[in-house]
Amino acid sequence: MAIFGAMIARTFSSATVRSLRVCVVGSGPAGFYTAEKMLKAHEEAEIDIIDRLPTPFGLVRSGVAPDHPETKIVINQFSRVAHNERCSFFGNVSLGSSISLSELRQIYHVVVLAYGAESDRVFGIPGEELSGVHSAREFVWWYNGHPDFSQLAPDLKNTDTAIVLGQGNVALDVARILLRSPAELATTDIASHALAALRESSIRKVYLVGRRGPAQAACTAKELREILAIKNLYVNIKQDHLQITSANEEEMKNSRIRRRVFDLLSKASLSSQTHLSSGQPELHFTFFRKPDKFIESNDKSGHVAGVNFEKTTLKGSAGSGNQIAAGTGEYDDLKCGLVLKSIGYKSIPVDGLPFDHSKGVVPNISGRVLSSSGVDQPEDGLYVCGWLKRGPTGIIATNLYDAEETVASISDDIKKKDPTSGFASAKPGREGLLQLLENRKIHVVAFSDWEKIDSEEKRLGSLIGKPREKLTSWKELLELTKR
Ligand code: NAP
Repeated sequence: MAIFGAMIARTFSSATVRSLRVCVVGSGPAGFYTAEKMLKAHEEAEIDIIDRLPTPFGLVRSGVAPDHPETKIVINQFSRVAHNERCSFFGNVSLGSSISLSELRQIYHVVVLAYGAESDRVFGIPGEELSGVHSAREFVWWYNGHPDFSQLAPDLKNTDTAIVLGQGNVALDVARILLRSPAELATTDIASHALAALRESSIRKVYLVGRRGPAQAACTAKELREILAIKNLYVNIKQDHLQITSANEEEMKNSRIRRRVFDLLSKASLSSQTHLSSGQPELHFTFFRKPDKFIESNDKSGHVAGVNFEKTTLKGSAGSGNQIAAGTGEYDDLKCGLVLKSIGYKSIPVDGLPFDHSKGVVPNISGRVLSSSGVDQPEDGLYVCGWLKRGPTGIIATNLYDAEETVASISDDIKKKDPTSGFASAKPGREGLLQLLENRKIHVVAFSDWEKIDSEEKRLGSLIGKPREKLTSWKELLELTKR
């Protein structure tokens, strides 16, 4: 607390000196919105955004589907933030390996962790390690050209059926990419390796499987409407899954989103054709099934050939929206050659960071990181924002409100400090960071370096009618920044 107090003293002592040294870890929406709000709220603040990737924008670049270009427009706003003279971006700097959290906290007055969720929830059931079973995140990173997963090479050729587990918007994204015509994707910024694989894909049938019913499906109406509108799509939803119980009515009364999703599914089930033509893409919504094990192929050892499901029924209170899936002891199988598990992303802790492993978040109150001492004591100068703070939910704009809350906490903490307490203790901030990284021979990617990548990707894209052709390997990305 004394050091933080000293910083405040310095901040208040001279409004002209940029004394509030702030580091934001992660350059996705949560990181950039935090930086933007901090710049506005604190004139003396100097903000450094670090990211482990050489490219900024996190989920906007690696998570948003290529056929959702309108969602990526926010990049313009984030670029304006990066160009602010009090803000810098340093890519290829990894918290944990390039620099530790305790080092960052020594160098900066305020550290805001906004590095998102780079892992996945798992089922923990037999066969999860079989080849052909991927997390949706891996698949998304693959088609979005994330350099860690450009080599994923999911096998789309030797099967006509994929099972997507989970019914949230990510599940809808991956199902849509599998079912949409590659010709339509060819004009997006989809990674070229993914487009080539989708052009050769044999997958025509996708099962979207949920452990609960259509009144609990986690997706939203706009995204559901979009997948249902795929050209020539055959949609299959069992009528008996659409029966409404009084508990479901109660749940839908409390949620307009759920009501709209349910209504769309009901309408789709009624209008679905009875006859399939050959090669027609098929989307099957399967409800009330939870995976019990992944089935290994007899012909291809180590590869998935299907999923064994336990049928479920809903239990629990409807009023609180908490009807849960309970196993019935009855089982059935679905055959497939590809499984995408889409049951949620998960954050990963770093050394020295209090972490709630069951929830996969950093314990916090309004963005103030709580110490792991057991008492609700905030860690001095340490804050959190985005998926690391609240879990992997919400759209990009949710991070705007989240950043507002975290920055309000930072501002309150600064105001509460007695400006006369302690003494003027400057923090090295940017200079300290860059010195340390130079000593460690870490090649830092500045925002101007990213702009070289950006220009090259746009140039390559323009040659083939795409908005950009992403560079998808670490080597290519880093080499370009060294030119
Ligand atoms: P999500 O919306 O939380 O959906 C997770 C799905 O996984 C749910 O169907 C959930 O079922 C299921 N699930 C979780 N644990 C399970 C288990 N153990 N067994 C079986 N099923 C399980 O997560 P998401 O799809 O990853 O999306 C993350 C966030 O990003 C969401 O807020 C989403 O709206 C947002 N997003 C938005 C867009 C867009 O706006 N276009 C696109 C992508 C993502 P239960 O409901 O039964 O738990």
